[in-house]
Amino acid sequence: MVVLPPIAKLKGLALDFLFPPRCVSCGRGGDFICASCRRSLIRITPPLCPRCGLPQPGGVLCPGCLRWQAEIDGIRSPFRFEGVIRQAVHQLKYQNLRALAAPLAGWLGEYFQSNAMPAEVLAPVPLHPKRLRERGYNQAKLLAEELGRLINLPVAADCLIREKPTPPQARSSTVEERRRNVAGAFACRDRRLEGQQVLLIDDVCTSGATLNAAAAAVKATGAATVWGLALAREI
Ligand SMILES: [Zn+2]
Ligand SMILES: [Zn+2]
Repeated sequence: MVVLPPIAKLKGLALDFLFPPRCVSCGRGGDFICASCRRSLIRITPPLCPRCGLPQPGGVLCPGCLRWQAEIDGIRSPFRFEGVIRQAVHQLKYQNLRALAAPLAGWLGEYFQSNAMPAEVLAPVPLHPKRLRERGYNQAKLLAEELGRLINLPVAADCLIREKPTPPQARSSTVEERRRNVAGAFACRDRRLEGQQVLLIDDVCTSGATLNAAAAAVKATGAATVWGLALAREI
């Protein structure tokens, strides 16, 4: 009897053959992000506010963090959400280009190795179930899983749940509005993160309101520390 390979596998091979990786930004063949576009990435470099991770002269708490006591202990991002990274995140999120998760997580891994932050377990920021059904996958979970393999940390992917769908944030909304929209949006299903140093993983951090709301839920179940690592940051 001849065993035929599953049709999905054949399809995958055909797709790789017909559509080899192309740079998401300039279209050059060979890689998802070519060497020249990689050089154009805009990194976020110190001095940073130790809490929210935004550039801050002197590396002291920024005015926003002085005024407002966040739940999250720290947020860091390797890149500004601009140019090539913006295009890459768009492809990962909306164009079903899941294969991008590996190279993007590679950069998160490099950043993690050279920037100390407490982490014993990774937790991707979840999508609301309705959004997950529409998209078919959670891009933050893809990043967390690839990163977990690279830095050898476990991923708690189903502990944190998003109970409240959050309206798409208008670019004009203030940080207070964003915090209000997302407050109480998350819950922890169990106490697996109790006593743990949790590192939340997301693709993009805008105001930090989402990471902070997720951190509140994780802290409520007794996590020791909660930090957030997002691939890119709107500044
Ligand atoms: Zn390119
Ligand atoms: Zn700050």
